Amino acid sequence: MPKPLADPLKPDVLVIGGGNAALTAALSAREGGASVTILEAAPKPYRGGNSRHTRNFRCMHRGPLGVLSGAYHADEYYDDLLKVTKNNTDPALAQLAINASEESYAWMEAHGVRFQSALSGTLSLSRTNAFFLGGGKALMNAYYARAEDADIAIHYDAHVDHIALEEGRIARVVATIENAEHVFTPGAVVVASGGFQADTDWLAQAWGPAARNFLIRGTPYNRGVPLRDLLDQGVQSVGDPTQCHAVAIDGRAPKFDGGIVTRLDCVPFSVVVNRNAERFYDEGEDVWPKRYAIWGRLVAAQPDQVAYAIIDSQSLDLFMPSVFPPIQADTIEGLGQQLGLHGGKLRGTVEAFNAACTEGDFHPTELDGLATTDLSPQKTNWARPIVQPPFYGYSLRPGVTFTYLGLKVDETARVSGPDGRMENLWAAGEIMAGSILGQGYLAGFGMTIGTVFGRIAGREAAAYVR
Ligand SMILES: Cc1cc2nc3c(=O)[nH]c(=O)nc-3n(C[C@H](O)[C@H](O)[C@H](O)COP(=O)(O)OP(=O)(O)OC[C@H]3O[C@@H](n4cnc5c(N)ncnc54)[C@H](O)[C@@H]3O)c2cc1C
Repeated sequence: MPKPLADPLKPDVLVIGGGNAALTAALSAREGGASVTILEAAPKPYRGGNSRHTRNFRCMHRGPLGVLSGAYHADEYYDDLLKVTKNNTDPALAQLAINASEESYAWMEAHGVRFQSALSGTLSLSRTNAFFLGGGKALMNAYYARAEDADIAIHYDAHVDHIALEEGRIARVVATIENAEHVFTPGAVVVASGGFQADTDWLAQAWGPAARNFLIRGTPYNRGVPLRDLLDQGVQSVGDPTQCHAVAIDGRAPKFDGGIVTRLDCVPFSVVVNRNAERFYDEGEDVWPKRYAIWGRLVAAQPDQVAYAIIDSQSLDLFMPSVFPPIQADTIEGLGQQLGLHGGKLRGTVEAFNAACTEGDFHPTELDGLATTDLSPQKTNWARPIVQPPFYGYSLRPGVTFTYLGLKVDETARVSGPDGRMENLWAAGEIMAGSILGQGYLAGFGMTIGTVFGRIAGREAAAYVR
């Protein structure tokens, strides 16, 4: 491979972002013979965006593959995607991501990623999703080590402020690196700077003021600055600003970067109430892997964007242990008071729920049909009376994972500009995932999209400068 160009402000390929999509693009561009520079907004200890929080990627395989058992054929994978997106996807791009996921497994291994089998209690994904040994942090560290070995120039604390578009091509990229402005004039640009969820003002434009109470599960650096800048210059967009992946997380989680451990999986075994100690949705509608992603929106629609999950001692060991211990009390009324709710009202809600429960067998790991009668809203599975002290409570808040509004790309990951294909701009990862994820989410697909389109974008950008 050639050495990087002498002038560091004129790389063949400039990659904006420092997560999975950016690093796969950078490594692929370098392997395509280009000199490459990465601009990562985060300081080095926080490099890797949301990707460092991940655990697995969803992988098509026609037979056993590494840690993946059985087969997961492309048509089953695509059907799964159509179900969650309600057909709101770009079929060509979706099938490209699915088909290329199989060979991505070997590519990832060749670039230092190690896999492990799924552990029990992880949303039953052992056939469909390959788990990263050491999680996304280890994956990112492996890619950064490869990038350093390959003489890719990496700048941390490097915020891209402007991507200047002139006559269908990117003429220059303006970035602030450690408080000084630098102007890059690369041959090609890959933008992989994630969604805009960390900009709560932008979220509030789409969601209203309630968005200011949302917690952001991942990096504070994904503020959508490159996305907004390109859209303002007429680059074509996909997706809806109100669509995002959001789950219910522990209300005590930090504003940013709480990661996977703040997710709470107790809802199916709970009575969930709002600030007024009233139930508002069927907690047992379906198995948790199929429902966890709707609870962020449900909580977002409640007063003050907060809810409370109440369980008793029978259910404490039925879900992944929580990182923050639950609030505990010997009576429901006392629990309510500790949670800041009206204790008497909470007792009334739980008593009404208990009275509506029916006789039957309780099976925590499958739909058991143990439903309430004459209660609104109904609980249609796992409706077991909450009677055995001590009682436990968790506060819940919406935790945004990533937003779906993004850039329109074609099958070569090239961005569509105001007047057709951009000459020298490619996009990968969350910033273009809205084409494939019009709504809903399939666990592990974010890393698949980033890996597949990152590799394509890097390869295409290198071919262009050659
Ligand atoms: C808690 C959590 C768990 C998740 N678990 C999974 C999982 O197990 N499997 C899965 O498939 N998906 C998972 N996801 C989703 C997944 O993280 C994303 O789909 C994926 O990481 C997107 O990769 P990306 O490279 O596009 O974005 P990111 O990894 O977020 O990278 C974006 C990068 O752009 C940089 N950046 C932003 N703005 C600028 C700027 N102006 N200038 C320079 N750099 C900038 C950021 O610092 C960051 O490095 C999870 C997300 C979270 C938050």
